Amino acid sequence: MNWASSKAEVARWLVVGGGLAGTLAAEALWRAGEEVVQRDAGKPGASRVAAGMFNPVSFRRIVEVWDAAEHREVAERTYRRFEALLGGRYWHEVPVVRVFPNAAYAADWQGRLNEGHAVSKWIELVEVDGLRAPHGAGRVNGSGWVDVPALLDDWAAWCRSGAERLQWEEGTWSWADGLPVGVDGVVDARGVGAVADLAKWGIQINPNHGEVLTLRPGSWSQPFTLNVNKWLLPQPDGGARLGATYAWNIADERTLPATLPSLLSAFDDVLQPGLNEEDVAEHRAGLRPASPDRRPFVGRLSERHRWYCILNGLGTRGVLVGPRAAQDLVRQLLTDAPPRDLTNPARFRSFNEI
Ligand SMILES: Cc1cc2nc3c(=O)[nH]c(=O)nc-3n(C[C@H](O)[C@H](O)[C@H](O)COP(=O)(O)OP(=O)(O)OC[C@H]3O[C@@H](n4cnc5c(N)ncnc54)[C@H](O)[C@@H]3O)c2cc1C
Repeated sequence: MNWASSKAEVARWLVVGGGLAGTLAAEALWRAGEEVVQRDAGKPGASRVAAGMFNPVSFRRIVEVWDAAEHREVAERTYRRFEALLGGRYWHEVPVVRVFPNAAYAADWQGRLNEGHAVSKWIELVEVDGLRAPHGAGRVNGSGWVDVPALLDDWAAWCRSGAERLQWEEGTWSWADGLPVGVDGVVDARGVGAVADLAKWGIQINPNHGEVLTLRPGSWSQPFTLNVNKWLLPQPDGGARLGATYAWNIADERTLPATLPSLLSAFDDVLQPGLNEEDVAEHRAGLRPASPDRRPFVGRLSERHRWYCILNGLGTRGVLVGPRAAQDLVRQLLTDAPPRDLTNPARFRSFNEI
């Protein structure tokens, strides 16, 4: 989309954060013809740990996730654009096979198909050899994963290589620094790094601790993601990612020793032989920047500080919802449109203009 045509002058933006949110915002602004300086502190970010999966279906209620088709469409277009620009491969389409935990869940899944529920365009029933699935299994199409670390590395390298209107710098920024000299606006995409500053505005970013394992080649070689509530995602090198955990009471990126055996044993009932500790190459943790209603925060916070806007709260589904959020951010900034209701940073009563 070309928002740039409605603006007379090119603006210079400082995008703070080199994770997924900052990178999506930087690319979208730059595509729209703006000048971008992206700054990152090199802190451990969620995007470096994420498995990068996208899935249009919520397994808990067997419904489509929020605006699934539109988010997916914008996401694919965006990541393919990065591929064309940077020459990497980031977008991988991989179906998910969900093993039903009990007869009632299998009946619910069948019911969705029988009634032609909106979710039924993504799902089907399947039989899969080599899995123990006494209650059956279903398959989700339209799912997959994005190689987020590769995308971030390639983007940063490209910014550093002297690309026109793009600059990459290492460093920090916080609210106390205000609008730096020489830039027209700041896009704050610091993930959990923005918790304290956004709390001053009454905006709540809740750090959600998550752990994920990387398994060695040979541990999972089927061409689908196996989901038993925990998931096993095949990787191009023949290895796999296995995750994830969700905890609200851990405020740093530490890994817990007890997580490793518990993640592996989640597949004991389904896989024969099961997974074991020798299969594990890496165990990592990160903090997802989550919002109270699972919608991102996108846009300006106040008229008084028009130079300041945020892209945060990408939560557990950053890969799917991030691209449309970034597109919407740029639409707001370049056309002076107000934030959308559902993602307005001021949508909670706790919001407080500073
Ligand atoms: C274990 C785990 C598994 C996940 N799996 C998936 C998945 O399968 N699919 C999915 O869609 N999502 C997944 N997520 C969520 C996903 O990681 C997030 O939605 C997304 O990466 C958030 O991106 P972000 O840019 O907002 O934050 P981050 O990636 O945390 O980036 C924030 C950046 O800001 C920088 N920064 C912080 N403070 C400052 C400062 N003061 N100055 C300058 N820079 C600063 C940091 O250095 C960092 O690079 C997972 C997360 C975890 C932890």
